[in-house]
Amino acid sequence: MIVLVTGGAGFIGSALIRHILRTTDWRVVNVDCLTYAANLAALERLADDPRYALEVVDIRDAEAVRELFARHSPDGVIHLAAETHVDRSIDSPDDFLTTNIMGTYQLLRAGHAHWRALPEAQRLAFRFHHVSTDEVFGQLRDGDPSFNEETPYQPNSPYSASKASSDHLVRAWHHTYGLPTLVTNCSNNYGPWQFPEKLIPLTIAKAVLGQSIPVYGNGSNVRDWLHVDDHARALWAAFRNGKPGETYAIGGNSERRNIDVVRTICRILDEEKGGEAHERLITFVSDRPGHDFRYAINGSKIEREVGWVPARTLEEGLRDTVRWYLRNQDWWAEVLASRYDGRRLGFSSGE
Ligand code: NAD
Repeated sequence: MIVLVTGGAGFIGSALIRHILRTTDWRVVNVDCLTYAANLAALERLADDPRYALEVVDIRDAEAVRELFARHSPDGVIHLAAETHVDRSIDSPDDFLTTNIMGTYQLLRAGHAHWRALPEAQRLAFRFHHVSTDEVFGQLRDGDPSFNEETPYQPNSPYSASKASSDHLVRAWHHTYGLPTLVTNCSNNYGPWQFPEKLIPLTIAKAVLGQSIPVYGNGSNVRDWLHVDDHARALWAAFRNGKPGETYAIGGNSERRNIDVVRTICRILDEEKGGEAHERLITFVSDRPGHDFRYAINGSKIEREVGWVPARTLEEGLRDTVRWYLRNQDWWAEVLASRYDGRRLGFSSGE
């Protein structure tokens, strides 16, 4: 059995590929055009695994995508390739629209043609799993019920609008053409190998370097956090056990204000590293335009229908993550020096 994982050189895609190869006998083809966000170091240990292959392909390239399906004849697709950083989408939305919307369209088109031509048994088992975000639902206020699969779409940033568009395309390919699709909408991820422009790794990096830790507004925006290895498990469980045409919300049951996440990281660093209190580095900066106030997920459907629940608490996961960044300073220091353009403070709330 063989699965195409798009965006497999990214933060979540690489965790998913490691999970699949470790826990199943499936083969994996990683389809990634290696943008600034790609990170092959996260897959280094798999380079010699005969069940793993990398295809450097831009999902916007219709012909290259069609050839991928012909070459590998996959039993399913898990689609993560995307432009993902909200701040970058505010500065320059072009790639967000072309990759997140048109790239998804090219995969649906080629995936559909491939699926239609499969023998019946394989056609029945085939899945096109689209990986999306809770940001498509817009924002919550304190006291609002959490997002679930019935929540109307109200995306607020160019990033979330492009992801919402791709979710709708996937829905349409199921409704109109019968393609056996799955959509998962997940809350903010954190963990090893996350590009240090996102909230948690950037906070750790700035604190370790003794530089000011920028916090948007007054830090009261609320996010739900999920460890990337828990997300990888959820994705594989949904891919294998989810029902075609369904969507599943995935969350970590860990809603926190940004300032509390940042303070927790500082406290863990005080304990792990010693030295002066890292909290003194926190600096409040002007808010991101259109900054969503709160996201929260009700994950009861995936728990009930797929049998997945998050395994780690945020506190356990944060401590492991801080320790990982302390051990892997060479990697993130090199990334910060070479690929972090610093146009904005880059202090996104997670994505
Ligand atoms: P990431 O930015 O770390 O990685 C994205 C990967 O996609 C990179 O390896 C990049 O090279 C690749 N890519 C980008 N454009 C491409 C193109 N045109 N063709 C081929 N490859 C391309 O992203 P991530 O944080 O791992 O997120 C993965 C997916 O999960 C995204 O679809 C994102 O919307 C979704 N998601 C992310 C989070 C989060 O907190 N990070 C939460 C929920 C959902």
